[in-house]
Amino acid sequence: MLGTDVGISGANFLIADTGAICTVTNEGNAELSLVPPRMHIVTAGIEKIVPSMPHAIHMLRMLARSATGAALTQYTTFYTGPKRAGDRDGPEEMHIVLVDNGRTKMREEGLAEMLRCIRCGACMNHCVVFRQIGGHAYGGTYPGPMGSVLTPVFDGLKQSRDLAHACTLNGKCQEVCPVRIPLPTLLKGWREKSWREGLEPTSMRFGLGIWAWVARRPGLYRLATGMAVRVIRMLGRKGWIDRLPLAGGWTRYRDMPKPAAQSFMTQYKKERRP
Ligand code: SF4
Repeated sequence: MLGTDVGISGANFLIADTGAICTVTNEGNAELSLVPPRMHIVTAGIEKIVPSMPHAIHMLRMLARSATGAALTQYTTFYTGPKRAGDRDGPEEMHIVLVDNGRTKMREEGLAEMLRCIRCGACMNHCVVFRQIGGHAYGGTYPGPMGSVLTPVFDGLKQSRDLAHACTLNGKCQEVCPVRIPLPTLLKGWREKSWREGLEPTSMRFGLGIWAWVARRPGLYRLATGMAVRVIRMLGRKGWIDRLPLAGGWTRYRDMPKPAAQSFMTQYKKERRP
């Protein structure tokens, strides 16, 4: 590491009025990679540019608090350029590479709000799906709600359309996001696009068509769901369902609790009865 010629880093913020860059880490790995080499190359997305130092400080406070709950991260460093005369260390050259990689397209395709993301991870920590399945299951660079919005931009909707569907739309991610990105709305946008472009499999289109037809007939809906719950309950063992005929994918890797004997509405009506 000490004899390396080139060190490459990203940046949390690029500060326009001074040309400085800011990195935030908890381990000091950015500093170790960038100070000893002769040349420092920074690659960062175009949305990382902020106008001035006060703007950067404001963003830093939001980032640290939303990511770790602390006032500041362990290592917050501002690099203002290559080594000057009299400096004891630092790179002799520093280059900044601005990366677009689909970001301009995001603006044009109605995803401009996502460019506000500072990658704090608060949306992931509060997501009920992320907390159950973890990061690798998302299959892209970014997991959680923000990953579900970003991955279709980078990898294509066809490859990653499942991500938008793996969301309960409970809205918790939007509530905790420090820059107020409407993540559930953006995810619904991906669902609509996937539907419009015919990316959903025929079985799903057919199944949803039947469900929509039944759901518009409340009596039939209650009858059908009541029967389905009875059948599923018969498959339960010790309070859990570990196999579902015709829907084995749901139970291949995990069990689900046996549904209650009575629906919420039935119990609610009983409770309200004097
Ligand atoms: S979407 Fe919001 S909460 Fe999630 S990482 Fe980005 S800024 Fe943080």
